[in-house]
Amino acid sequence: MIKESNLSIDTAVFREVVWAGDYYLGKVSAGQTFRILDLEGNQAADTLFFCADNPAERYSATDTIREQHNVYLTAGSLLRSNENRAMLEIVADTCGRHDTLGGACATESNTVRYDLEKRCMHACRDSWMLAIAEKPEYGLSKRDISHNINFFMNVPVTEDGGLSFADGISGAGKYVELKALVDVYVLISNCPQLNNPCNAYNPTPIEYLVWDA
Ligand SMILES: [Zn+2]
Repeated sequence: MIKESNLSIDTAVFREVVWAGDYYLGKVSAGQTFRILDLEGNQAADTLFFCADNPAERYSATDTIREQHNVYLTAGSLLRSNENRAMLEIVADTCGRHDTLGGACATESNTVRYDLEKRCMHACRDSWMLAIAEKPEYGLSKRDISHNINFFMNVPVTEDGGLSFADGISGAGKYVELKALVDVYVLISNCPQLNNPCNAYNPTPIEYLVWDA
């Protein structure tokens, strides 16, 4: 569902460009709203959410899909934790659909999906692991790396129930905006994937913006 935001970029209290292959890890407080902006189009932002007061409670794809009866995420979706608590709400979306089934790219899955020689290529899971190593103050560890959301990524479910990684439906300037319902850690890997059409074989930067309540 396409729903535009009425927030002005001029009133954002925080802005940061995240380059492809890099990560962003930060905290948003309950009531704050943040936007992930696809600057050049056809990018994928592989994202994890954790409850800041207890990171063992984190975003759950299964609880979210079950409660909303829909495998895709868009404006109106409530993102639920593994305790079935609503953590965030998607309050604006100009892309229209986001994936939470495909998972993040990893060196292991790159070898299975594409070629053994792809093992050395940088992947989203590497960026997440780097984030938790470089920022130990968040208290995250390897076991907290779980299922995720791929914002802007187009992963249609096929007739026979499979997944296909298709050309993106996002474009330059499209964005998704979320309101935090609890204090949340946001961990984004801006995907460096070069082997499938989800980012048109051309990883590009995204921008992350935050507004106060
Ligand atoms: Zn990736």
